[in-house]
Amino acid sequence: MDNKPAKSGNGKLHKKHPCVKCNAACCRYIAIEIPEPKDISDFELVKWYLDHEKVTVYIDEDMDWFAHVEVQCKHIGKQNECRIYEKRSQICREYGVHECERYDPDSLNFAEFSSTNEFELFFSQNYNIKNGKCKKKKSGSY
Ligand code: SF4
Ligand code: SF4
Repeated sequence: MDNKPAKSGNGKLHKKHPCVKCNAACCRYIAIEIPEPKDISDFELVKWYLDHEKVTVYIDEDMDWFAHVEVQCKHIGKQNECRIYEKRSQICREYGVHECERYDPDSLNFAEFSSTNEFELFFSQNYNIKNGKCKKKKSGSY
């Protein structure tokens, strides 16, 4: 299947294409890999991210940590087409319905935090903080 948004210059997709009803969701955020908190500074950084509107933090199925920022691409057209389709960046070329989280059940995140309270609860259940360092508990859920 074509990569998303699989819309060429004329902005047309087959009506059965799964992206048609999706409102180009994958073009409306960025995800930035962040370090798993190893010390108190990393821990505080995650809290700071979560203090901001439109920011969530998640741990993906490979246990990598990401900050997710809801911010839309400048190049989405009125019909949700990509206005720079031929020149879109590599990350857009590689992403498609084949790995879209809406269609790939394997890509469910391990954990997601939308507030500092959620994050602190998860962290207290899974990590110890001692002398400024964060260590996973052996009894933690992962
Ligand atoms: S690839 Fe997935 S998220 Fe992106 S527009 Fe298509 S269905 Fe929506
Ligand atoms: S460049 Fe095109 S494909 Fe990439 S995020 Fe923007 S609108 Fe979507």
